[in-house]
Amino acid sequence: MKDAIIFGGGMAGCMLADKLLAYGKEIAIVDNPARSRCSRVAAGLINPIAGSRLNLAWMAETFIPFAESYYREVEERYDQKIFHERDLARLFANDAERENWEQKKQDVKYRQWIDTLENTGIGSIPISGGKEGFAVRKAGYVDTPTLLSCLRSNLEKNTEFFEEDFEYDDISITENHVEWSGLKAKIAFFCEGHFATQNPWFSGYPFKPAKGIIGRITTDIDFSNTIIIKRYFLIPRHDATLYVGATYNWNDIVDQPDEEGIAELENFLRQHLGSKWNWDAIDAGVRPATAGGKPIIGKHSQSERVVAFNGFGSKGCMQIPYLADLLVKHIWSDHDLLRDASLSRFASKSPESRWRAVEVARERVLQVVKEGDIVCDATCGNGHDTVWLAKAVGKGGKVYAIDIQTDAIEATRARLEKENLNHRVTFLGRGHENLTSFIPIKDQGNVAAIVFNLGYLPGGDKSIFTQKKTTLAALEASLLTLKEGGILSLVLYYGHKGGSEEAKEVERWRHSLDRDRFKTEHIKNPVREGTSPSVITIKRVI
Ligand code: SAM
Repeated sequence: MKDAIIFGGGMAGCMLADKLLAYGKEIAIVDNPARSRCSRVAAGLINPIAGSRLNLAWMAETFIPFAESYYREVEERYDQKIFHERDLARLFANDAERENWEQKKQDVKYRQWIDTLENTGIGSIPISGGKEGFAVRKAGYVDTPTLLSCLRSNLEKNTEFFEEDFEYDDISITENHVEWSGLKAKIAFFCEGHFATQNPWFSGYPFKPAKGIIGRITTDIDFSNTIIIKRYFLIPRHDATLYVGATYNWNDIVDQPDEEGIAELENFLRQHLGSKWNWDAIDAGVRPATAGGKPIIGKHSQSERVVAFNGFGSKGCMQIPYLADLLVKHIWSDHDLLRDASLSRFASKSPESRWRAVEVARERVLQVVKEGDIVCDATCGNGHDTVWLAKAVGKGGKVYAIDIQTDAIEATRARLEKENLNHRVTFLGRGHENLTSFIPIKDQGNVAAIVFNLGYLPGGDKSIFTQKKTTLAALEASLLTLKEGGILSLVLYYGHKGGSEEAKEVERWRHSLDRDRFKTEHIKNPVREGTSPSVITIKRVI
C-alpha cells in the first residue's frame, strides 16, 4: 500500500509530492496536464504587498523566506534558475490608493518590506503616466514552467505517475484505505485546482475560481529588472520578455483568453508603453481562488483519508512550500494546521459540506416514484441513476434508459445485469431529443419521472456532452411524456465547455413554463453557488 495518492499535478500537487518524497513517503500521482493551464501560465509573483488595498500578504514574513530557501534548494538540486529576484515599484493606480497608503505605511509591520523609490535606487520609471508609489523589498518571480518541469521529471522517475484524467466516482474511500484504479493508499490528497468545485467531498467549500489572462510582450524599453505594478503587473523576465497581467473573470471559467480581457491588458499597455511593444504570447488559466482569499487544506471531517491541498489563488508560489511542509507534518506527526488555512474553519458554516447534486436529485425523484411506475433515464451514462430508478419501480415497473453513446448503453446494461435488474429496463441508444418518437405511444403521458444528468460521460469521451439545443428539445418532449403528478429532474454542470450556457438556457426555459401546470425549483449548493453543480426539478401539477 502507498502512503498517498495525489490527484492533480499542478504547482500544489507537484510541490506537495516533492515534500512527501523528501519525507520518505511512497506516493502515486494522477494528473492530466492538458486539463488545466493555471500552474503553467502563472506569473509566479512573489510580492508581500498584495492587491489594490495594499494589505500585507497573509503570513508573508513566514511564507516568503521559507519559499525562497525551498526554491534555492531546488535550484541547486537541478542546476536551474527558479527564483528571480527583482526590484518592485508599486505605483498608485488612483488617488484612493495613494490616500490609503499614506495611512498604511505608518504601520510598523510594513517596515521590513517597503522603502521609497529613491532609496532603493529604482531610477526613472520607464512608463508613461503617474509614477508616484513606493518600493517593495524581497520581491521577485518564480519561473513556474521551469519549476514544474524539474519537479515533474523527478516525480516521473521516483513515484508511480499516471498521466491521465481521474473521475471522482472511481475513487473509493474506506475506513482503512483509499483506492483508485486498483491502487491502494493511506491518504488521497486532492490538488486539482479549480476542479475542486466538482469534487463531491470539497465542492461545498467556498472555492471561487477566477480566470486570469496573462500575456508575454517584447519591448525595447529598458525595465532594468524592475517589476512595475500599477493595478496590472509588468514583470521583466530572464528571457528578455515581460509578463503583463493579470485580469480577473469569475464568470468564464475556461483556460482560453477572451477578447474583453485581452482588450483590458492592451489598454493598459497602450496607456503606459504607447505602441512600443508587441505580443509574444497570450495565455489564460483558472486560478483556484477562494471566497476569503486563503487556501483550503486539511482532512475532510467525514474521513481523515481525504485531504485537500488547494485554494491558493494567485499566491501559490508564496504559500505552497511552507504549507506543503506543514500539511505533511500535520498528517504524519500531528502538527497543528494554521486555522486560517484549515478546512475546519468552515465547520460551523458547512455542516453538510458534501454537496452532491445527484443525491439531491435522486431524493426529489424518489419522493414521487412508486412501485409499478414507468420512468425514464434520459442520459443513462454509466447507469448509476438507472440502477436506483429500476429499484424504485420494483418488479412491475419499467425504466427507459436512453443515451446516444453505445459505450454508455453497454456500461448501463452491464451494471444492471450485475444487480439483476436488467429485465426492468429497455435500453435505447438514441438521442433524447427524439424521445417521443421511440417511447411507445401507450406510455407517453404516463411516465412518472424523467431524469437528466447533463454533461459528459464520466470516464468516457469528454468531447461528447449534452448540447443546449438538443437538451431543450428533449425537455419539451419530456413534458409531453410526463404524467400528472410526475417529476422531471436535471443535474446541471458548469465546469465544462458549454456547461454554463446550457445551464442558463435550461434556467430560462424553466421560467418560461406555465406556472399553473408546472411547479419548478432550482436547488443550488447551499454553501457555494458559482460553478458547483445544481439541480432543477419540474413537477407536472395538472
Ligand atoms: N446518469 C449517468 C450515470 O449515472 O452514470 C451519467 C450521465 S452523463 C453525465 C451524461 C450522458 O449524456 C453521457 O453519457 C452522454 O453520452 C449522454 N448524452 C449526451 N447527449 C445526449 C443526447 N442527445 N441524448 C442522449 N444522451 C446524451
